[in-house]
Amino acid sequence: MAKIYLTRRIPEEGIRLLEENHEVEIYEGDAPPPKEEIMERVRDKEGLLCLLTDPIDRDVFDAAPKLRAISTYAVGYDNIDLKEATRRKIPVSNTPGVLTETTADLAWALIMSIARRIVEGDKMMREEKFKGWGPMVLLGNDVYGKTLGIIGAGRIGRAVARRAGGFGMEIIYHARKRKPDFEEECNAKSVGFEELLKKSDYVTLHVPLTKETYHMVGEKELKMMKKTAYLINTARGKCIDERALVNALREGDIAGAALDVFENEPYLTEGLKELDNVVLAPHAGSASIETRTKMAVMAARGLIAGLDGKMPEHCVNPEIFGEKT
Ligand code: NAP
Repeated sequence: MAKIYLTRRIPEEGIRLLEENHEVEIYEGDAPPPKEEIMERVRDKEGLLCLLTDPIDRDVFDAAPKLRAISTYAVGYDNIDLKEATRRKIPVSNTPGVLTETTADLAWALIMSIARRIVEGDKMMREEKFKGWGPMVLLGNDVYGKTLGIIGAGRIGRAVARRAGGFGMEIIYHARKRKPDFEEECNAKSVGFEELLKKSDYVTLHVPLTKETYHMVGEKELKMMKKTAYLINTARGKCIDERALVNALREGDIAGAALDVFENEPYLTEGLKELDNVVLAPHAGSASIETRTKMAVMAARGLIAGLDGKMPEHCVNPEIFGEKT
């Protein structure tokens, strides 16, 4: 029976699958385990099911001489040193697709919340500061008929764009390559990065975190945006230079931001939480019961396949099986 380490308890359906034929050890803490804890626990393990909060770097690989398969309970895998995994011929699998619609829903929840000042309104009600309907009370901005700028037209970016149809929005997007099928489906127009920043009323990020996307929105990019525009991030915190964002929000360079992910998660950059023109969510993009359950099953299946010496259905380093990336 292969030994498996889970860095956190995931929905029961996934654990049951793993326990059918493997010896499973689970970290039971509420917060992510310290790296030293992971290194200690993986010493005798052949399988590792980790979360996006766990840095799976060379130290962890060195501490796990028996490791044969890794599965991450997320679609993004920027926390894993993929090069090192590949060099050691360890398959890494993720959970794409099953969380697309749920994450797109959250991006829309953020768009609506920041545009219509829902969080500020909620606070006003709870603090009993609402004195009755008033012509100038908490005026926000329209969403209907505005321009939505999608950065990264992959699964989630496209799902966000599809929802914009109901809001009569003009959709522009920036991608490394044009996506004719997306253009046809959503009436989306491909534009350069700068043009997207200059034209959009809502800029929403849907790229993976890579060397190219690290701090892709910083001071210069924020200054290119309209003063009335909003920045939405459900991708990864490090895609935005958060210090530059705090300054831009303070100076009124943009109207607001709604963030599900943070540069130094779970910590907030100084100044962010004092601002009213920002909505903050606790990295909850995929946080629905149905989706987290599907992710658990998919992550478990990926790990089991890897341990069985088969290529997992969603393998992010298929080259170790002689397949193209
Ligand atoms: P995906 O289908 O792989 O889409 C990512 C898209 O980004 C691809 O179309 C890719 O373009 C594009 N891209 C990559 N680098 C780019 C660059 N430098 N400039 C412009 N576009 C670039 O991934 P997904 O399933 O939509 O997920 C996207 C990301 O969302 C994940 O990597 C993850 O970090 C994040 N996420 C967050 C949550 C949350 O809880 N907030 C939940 C799920 C996912 P090509 O097609 O040209 O390669």
